[in-house]
Amino acid sequence: MILTVTMNPSVDISYPVDQFKLDDVNRVETVRKTAGGKGLNVARVIAQMEEEVLATGVLGGTIGDYIVQELNKSNIQNDFLRIDKESRNCIAILHEGMQTEILEAGPTLSSEEGEVFLEKFANLLPKVSIVTISGSLPKGLPPNFYQQMLEISQEKGIPVVVDSSGEPLRQVLLHKEKPFAIKPNTAEMSQLLGFKVDAEIGSLKQAVNHELLKGIEWIVVSMGSDGAFVRRADEYYRVTIPKIDLVNPVGSGDATVAGFAVALNRHETIEKVLKTAMTTGILNTVEAGTGYINIAKFNQYFDSVKVEKID
Ligand code: ATP
Repeated sequence: MILTVTMNPSVDISYPVDQFKLDDVNRVETVRKTAGGKGLNVARVIAQMEEEVLATGVLGGTIGDYIVQELNKSNIQNDFLRIDKESRNCIAILHEGMQTEILEAGPTLSSEEGEVFLEKFANLLPKVSIVTISGSLPKGLPPNFYQQMLEISQEKGIPVVVDSSGEPLRQVLLHKEKPFAIKPNTAEMSQLLGFKVDAEIGSLKQAVNHELLKGIEWIVVSMGSDGAFVRRADEYYRVTIPKIDLVNPVGSGDATVAGFAVALNRHETIEKVLKTAMTTGILNTVEAGTGYINIAKFNQYFDSVKVEKID
């Protein structure tokens, strides 16, 4: 079973309006509310891939109740640390072809709550074969919190896929013990390494060979419609994808992580792992929902993803 971690989940609310009026009343007819946060997108896509998944993290209050209710409705097993604080709402106003977002920060956790979560995390590990950690850390937790989770997983020999950015990602990479896999996009790579990483092979190779990334088994640099560049141990792969009619790219990175974890969990070949990861990313972009795929379309896209080993 795959364990997905979401430390700061949310209820994602989207308000479509024809025209967004500032300093005025905006009435919304169709409201869409989903259990959100990057890790929950990953969990949902893993479940849609019909692989066993357990979602964990920290939540609380009536918003936390709603998240659990939504996960139960989708038959996604979950075991979150419940805290005495309210989880967050994240609002996206969709107007005139634009998306204006209002993101609550979410609860500030105490160091005791952090410790209790780490205990819970350690207790869940005997049930799982892979861990995915996605997104940002809630306020109050130390920036090396993911590193602590990584150490606990490594003691038990369980591989961890990290999809984060900024300081929490940098901290995970500062130690000798590295995550099994990371999935940055080029912007996150640039921010992490302090130089511009673009879609050119030279630039990508320089990035994945950076000192900070030594010892990571899989580095999947996702590049939107340009597919991905990958270093697996000391081999490089370029993955190209077909042109598609884009509907909603938000959450494609999460869907990619989901496909990647599922294929690893099924002990697939390198080629199949990469094709699966790209296909779930693409499938997310052709649906309106975020972190949502239609598995019936899987083979149609899978066959047109090309993996090329390069020197
Ligand atoms: P997000 O932060 O929205 O989750 P990301 O920046 O982490 O996304 P991307 O590199 O944009 O991740 O996308 C991940 C994968 O999804 C790509 O490697 C590709 O397979 C697929 N994908 C994303 N955008 C497109 C697109 N416009 N056309 C086709 N496939 C796409």
